[in-house]
Amino acid sequence: MKKSIPYGRQYLDDEDIDAVVKTLKSDYLTQGPMIAKFEEAFANYVGSQFAVAVSNGTAALHLSALVLNIRPGDKVITTPITFSATANCVRYCGGEVILCDIDPETYLLDVSKLKKLLGSEPKGTIKGIIAVDFAGRAANLAEYRDLANEYDLWIIEDACHAPGGYFLDSNGQKQYCGNGKYSDLSIFSFHPVKHIAAGEGGMITTNDEELYKSLQLLRTHGITKEKENFINDISLAASSDLASDYQGWYMEMHQLGYNYRLTDFQAALGLSQLRKADRGLIRRREIAAKYNDAFQGMDSIRGQSGVIEGHAYHLYILEAHNRLGLYRFLRERQILVQVHYIPLHYMPYYKQHGLEGVSLPQAENYYKHCLSLPMYPTLSEEELDYVIASVLEFSNG
Ligand SMILES: *Cc1c(COP(=O)(O)O)cnc(C)c1O
Repeated sequence: MKKSIPYGRQYLDDEDIDAVVKTLKSDYLTQGPMIAKFEEAFANYVGSQFAVAVSNGTAALHLSALVLNIRPGDKVITTPITFSATANCVRYCGGEVILCDIDPETYLLDVSKLKKLLGSEPKGTIKGIIAVDFAGRAANLAEYRDLANEYDLWIIEDACHAPGGYFLDSNGQKQYCGNGKYSDLSIFSFHPVKHIAAGEGGMITTNDEELYKSLQLLRTHGITKEKENFINDISLAASSDLASDYQGWYMEMHQLGYNYRLTDFQAALGLSQLRKADRGLIRRREIAAKYNDAFQGMDSIRGQSGVIEGHAYHLYILEAHNRLGLYRFLRERQILVQVHYIPLHYMPYYKQHGLEGVSLPQAENYYKHCLSLPMYPTLSEEELDYVIASVLEFSNG
């Protein structure tokens, strides 16, 4: 096989391209009608009341941290096995990142350790939790919510890996990632390696109307054009220079916001991609099932245990006894496996910002062995068989 096989890749068809071209030919490149359409469709898809489209997943995290009012010195708990951006939003606001070790079965925050961590600090010092649906496995946010209520915390769900993923609650009901029932805010990314590609792009979903309004304001410079929100007295009777100034040009800046807008042609692409998201999920789950079958009962490698209902399989992770050997072997065969992720407390920046000397044995052990195999909807059966045969060849050789 000559063509290389990446660990993940986007899939764009003619429908997607037509949607973008149509928007490029319209009157709006940005701040047009596609944004609201995409937001509405996305909220509908995940089952939340509100959605705010932004320029990327990192901006979604930053705005979330701002509206939840993270202040210098505030402590926020997250997982060491995630992309840096998850934790960076805390640092943007001057907060402190506290890491909790992972459960070696799920690779998600270990809830029993989370409980211990919360109990070990004086109440009120830890302000929130950023849960990550790592690899596409939905965190059981109902459990987090109970803790959050007990300790008066907010929850951000980083669902970048898991649009369409869900967990089953104690009544056996599907709780979709980002549905806003248990988290205050959930965030998504539309980077090309994620499920839905918009070039760059992000989304925040919530059921909290106040947070929703704050997010909208901060996305566009903190400026509002809505008369009912104006703070200045602009009535005819007022004696200021602004008296009767409510004309088309009038607007007010209320907060120090940003330009974190998504463009209309990105929203058009996102909307078109969203229509195919469920088809992609079906294929991802098929691929995972085939990997699981192939690697069952082996000693030197461990696939993700069983088929997990609701898993969105952004990644398929294998744990290998000889990870470096397997990495090199597969790379030589043009299978571009990756490692997700280097634990956050190994990052020089985080060592310099409070995480030097932190010990998280499960995360560290996971990092020694993990490898992400190719996982994307357009991976062909032939390519999939080739990947499996190569892994088995290495393991049996
Ligand atoms: C991709 C990703 C982000 C950041 O999203 P961008 O759109 O690349 O800014 C944040 N968290 C996780 C877990 C991600 O995978």
